[in-house]
Amino acid sequence: MDSLKVYAIALDGPSGAGKSTVAKIVAKTLKITYLDTGALYRALGYVCLKNGVDVNDGGAVEQCIKDVDVSIVYRDGVQSVIADGEDVSSKIRTPEMSMAASAVSAIPYVRQKLLGLQRVIAEKSSVILDGRDIGTVVLPQAEFKFFLTASAEERARRRFDELTAKGQTVTYEDVFNDVVTRDKNDSTRAIAPLKRASDAVEINSDNMSAQDVADFICSTVNGDLL
Ligand code: C5P
Repeated sequence: MDSLKVYAIALDGPSGAGKSTVAKIVAKTLKITYLDTGALYRALGYVCLKNGVDVNDGGAVEQCIKDVDVSIVYRDGVQSVIADGEDVSSKIRTPEMSMAASAVSAIPYVRQKLLGLQRVIAEKSSVILDGRDIGTVVLPQAEFKFFLTASAEERARRRFDELTAKGQTVTYEDVFNDVVTRDKNDSTRAIAPLKRASDAVEINSDNMSAQDVADFICSTVNGDLL
């Protein structure tokens, strides 16, 4: 591949597989842009909850978010999500916001609204996008596609460690149930379900650190670009 060309890495997989940790390392190593697409769904879930809207009511959600301006701002390579001028980045990382994001993400209008924004970011420079439908829907032409998995127990353990490290009070059981419920919601929804693209490389990270996974991705990309 022409090494000067803009390229995209699609990194999909279920909740808690470590996608964002891996994507951050890859972006830093390869000096490319990282877009955490889950943050966009979380931001719209947040706006709905803030306005007292039932996140499972497609019509009410559409009404609530149709004029909401969602954008991404990078400061020193770190992504912030802005919804109607409010930086919501620090408010969207709770289990409540995870479930709200999962609910609104099943609504076709929500997915359509966020599609263009993701593609515009991917056109501007070389990127790694992490999500559920990057390799299948958002960037089906991505030069590199990976599907990162791990057992539900391992993913819940990682998410539990991450949340408690941030000072949140959660139990392992609640985090585990959240992971299993979101897996089910995300993989059974009618539109853009969580699914491995047929041309994506599957990586089971049960016995791999985030650094191991990132090294594997970087060496695949570098091997192809050289
Ligand atoms: O990745 P993260 O856990 O932040 O995503 C929150 C929720 O947003 C997911 O459970 C999923 O329902 C939704 N999502 C999605 N498509 C993406 C990224 C996230 O449906 N590309």
